Amino acid sequence: MISIKINTMAKMPAVGLGTWQSDPGVVGNAVKMAIEAGYRHIDCAKIYGNEKEIGLALKEMIQKNVVKRENLWVTSKLWCTHHAPEDVPEALNSTLQELQLDYLDLYLIHWPMRLKKGTKGFAPENFCPLDIRSTWQAMEKLLDSGKVRAIGVSNFSTKKLEELVKHAAIMPAVNQVECHPMWQQTNLHNFCKKHGIHITAYSPLGSPGSRLVKTKVNVLEQPVVKQVAEKLGKTPAQVVLRWGIQRGCSVLPKSTSEERIKSNLDVFDWSIPQDLMDQFQQIEQERLLRGQFFTHDTCGPYRKVEDLWDGEI
Ligand code: NAP
Repeated sequence: MISIKINTMAKMPAVGLGTWQSDPGVVGNAVKMAIEAGYRHIDCAKIYGNEKEIGLALKEMIQKNVVKRENLWVTSKLWCTHHAPEDVPEALNSTLQELQLDYLDLYLIHWPMRLKKGTKGFAPENFCPLDIRSTWQAMEKLLDSGKVRAIGVSNFSTKKLEELVKHAAIMPAVNQVECHPMWQQTNLHNFCKKHGIHITAYSPLGSPGSRLVKTKVNVLEQPVVKQVAEKLGKTPAQVVLRWGIQRGCSVLPKSTSEERIKSNLDVFDWSIPQDLMDQFQQIEQERLLRGQFFTHDTCGPYRKVEDLWDGEI
């Protein structure tokens, strides 16, 4: 497994198992199958509602000596209801308790938006103004506790990152964003590279079948992807994951199927030649994940509905 050195000098495995929309009753088995297949990176989040079951699976794998904790990379994310500085340690403790871990390898601010504590859903009255500076300061303090080894953000545009890096005492290690051949995020890549922020690509397969995907567009069925896959004798999924890794990203394919979990990891002993990599530049760009429910007049990451697809959040 290729690992990527992030700005803390820690090495993050380039492929991680995604766990969003992995249902209770299924996710634990997916995590165990993944670890047995060689995954050493699991991407979690409080809001996915499945950290408890993931925790049980991790515990079992560690107790059975299939993997040692120090060889695993576990990421989780701070949900938007816990952005108040005093709530950040509480949120982390709750995640650690559910995952049955002493520390996380990486903790991210999940979205650059804030919801009132105790609220559920995205009704307009649940939003409150974002003060990303104070939330980030609380994240920085977590590093002193030893309960997180690195901190970062997720769903931050260049605009939001520019604001953050102006004030950050500690630079985010990672920005986890939607990234795949149909949403390549080239400007964001350039910005992050300049500031030593690693990009982790979420929905690296384009989240096929997700209820949040905008249309029936399927990244895996893009002609360029299919042609490259055919030429290299690989599956479209392997090609888009390898494409992401060759661009310097880590990738988080989600699957609960044993066969796909295994095949999504078979992306290391071959590569996409440069002339074929160049062909991905022809693919028309479109942000696939819907975000209407995040829309709010003043406080949400999307300022208004028309902004939804311009890539700036
Ligand atoms: P994804 O990984 O791009 O796609 C997952 C979908 O693809 C599932 O329906 C899966 O079905 C299917 N699939 C998996 N392997 C396949 C293969 N080899 N061939 C064909 N289909 C395949 O989408 P995602 O779940 O949206 O994103 C991945 C992870 O990124 C999430 O699980 C989560 O951990 C993270 N994420 C983070 C954020 C954020 O805001 N930070 C947002 C979205 C996602 P099966 O399960 O049936 O295989």
